[in-house]
Amino acid sequence: MYPRKRALERIARERVLYERSPGGDISICVIYPNHYRLGMANLGFQAIFHIFESDPNVAADRAFLPDADERENFRSGGERLVSFERGRPLSDFDILAFSISFETDYLNVLSILKMAGIPTRRSERAGRNFPMIVAGGSAVFLNPEPIADFVDLFLIGEGEEMVPEFLSRWNETRGLSNRLHELATVEGSYIPEFYTPVYDDAGRLATVHYRGPGSAQVNRRLIRDLNRFTTSSLILTEESVFGDMFLVEASRGCQWGCRFCAAGFMYRPIRYRAPESLVAEAERGLTERNVIGLVGAEMASVPGVAEIASAVVDRGGRLSPSSLKADCISPALASALARGGNQSVTVAPEAGSERMRKVINKNLTEAEILHAAEMMLGKGVGNLKFYFMIGLPEERDEDVLAIADLVAKVLERARARRTRIGSVTVSLNPFVPKPWTPFQWDPMEDARSIKRKVAMLRARLARLGQVELDAESPREAYFQTMVSRGDRRVGAILERLEAAGCDGAGPIWHELVQIHREAESGDSDLPDPDFFVTRHYTHDELLPWDFIDHHVYKWFLLAERKKAHHEHQSPPCDVERCTVCGAC
Ligand code: SF4
Repeated sequence: MYPRKRALERIARERVLYERSPGGDISICVIYPNHYRLGMANLGFQAIFHIFESDPNVAADRAFLPDADERENFRSGGERLVSFERGRPLSDFDILAFSISFETDYLNVLSILKMAGIPTRRSERAGRNFPMIVAGGSAVFLNPEPIADFVDLFLIGEGEEMVPEFLSRWNETRGLSNRLHELATVEGSYIPEFYTPVYDDAGRLATVHYRGPGSAQVNRRLIRDLNRFTTSSLILTEESVFGDMFLVEASRGCQWGCRFCAAGFMYRPIRYRAPESLVAEAERGLTERNVIGLVGAEMASVPGVAEIASAVVDRGGRLSPSSLKADCISPALASALARGGNQSVTVAPEAGSERMRKVINKNLTEAEILHAAEMMLGKGVGNLKFYFMIGLPEERDEDVLAIADLVAKVLERARARRTRIGSVTVSLNPFVPKPWTPFQWDPMEDARSIKRKVAMLRARLARLGQVELDAESPREAYFQTMVSRGDRRVGAILERLEAAGCDGAGPIWHELVQIHREAESGDSDLPDPDFFVTRHYTHDELLPWDFIDHHVYKWFLLAERKKAHHEHQSPPCDVERCTVCGAC
């Protein structure tokens, strides 16, 4: 189908829950660098689009990565990507603002620029009349460097206060160069042109020269009080992956400090929305959809969550929380979830053995997991999904097999009590080291080793019957680790992947293997992807993302890493009293 026709049909099916503004003189296209159905399920994208659109000076539009069946039109060079609402060429806008939640979408940023006929490299756009390329979102909070050569300006942090400031400064100046100097003073802005990385003989980042105004350190922005802003679904469409839900953001950050989890460190300190505002949003949402999706890192700890679930059920709806920490599920919450008709609940022990859960600071015992599973099943939630990671630092084979032992115990208990049990799914994801976590220095485990462990676990789970194993490919995790821990030189690898038309985990993996071989044989100027994926970063080395100040001390992350080695846990956050990590 011709892309424009599809966009118009999609617009006709959307339900917009706010008054759209007619728009001003600044034309901005807010881009989600993946497909429409994923972008419209992303609250961050919807919120940022609304912030831009709320400015009376701005005429805001949207754009997405074209669907797979539309891509060929662009590859053959016949089509140029146009915006979603107005069908305007992307190259005609004043600003293209990418909202990037996942680092794996960095590759799509290049594809979109290419499809729009815009040179991907900043240096190729210099002095020519192209839109300013801006990027924000949780992926760039962590590490924007892999796309630093393609973007004019990053906004690092939460957008509610930063974007209006950015727009007002943008409006006060003229010309890209003047604007960049002016915009550099907006707290949270990062202008990569002002930074020149220097590498040592071993290929590690040695230093970064800065030639912009003020300090080279970028202060990531967070809003203090979430209740000043509402973040809920603004545009509904059944085509979204959460098409049957009205989404309500309940919190940002997480109090538990799991050592692998970026959300638990980058959004510190934890902020919850007031229960009354969540109930009010849920009530508003129920006029549109029967299911309220509660969004945040961990939902069982949200103050008043059982009452919220109960209020939703009393009004004929159902609450669907994103993830629940097993020991925080109260009987009242379990009961409300079951009463609402939740057939399935996801619990995330993350690791099978007690020892590994101490390493990752899960603060969760086997008894608590078994109790939670028993309670959920007892209340009538028939299907359980357990989320585990594999290839974690310090992991041994017995820790992997302990996943099967834990699931076996859940089944044994259910059978002993004659509790109805539908399906049990074990979702297994390779560990991907993330910047700004205590495991940022650790490598991803070798893909072959992960495959061996998955096969070992699969065989053990097969003995249990009734359990489905859903294992993510280590090839996908390899690419994710490269963009997660990469420096600016990864940009050239992304260009090669884009030029090769790599679309999907398989082709990306094969191209990365080829690049690795060429690097080993000295046949290529590109860096070896292994350098960013399978290498231990040393504790004294300058990390590509160190120029961002996340307000969490590096020594604290290192101390947490050492505690992991000694299998020592840290307590959860106590924001009233604690100041240990620097965020409060
Ligand atoms: S200072 Fe303490 S309470 Fe605040 S985010 Fe850090 S660890 Fe959590």
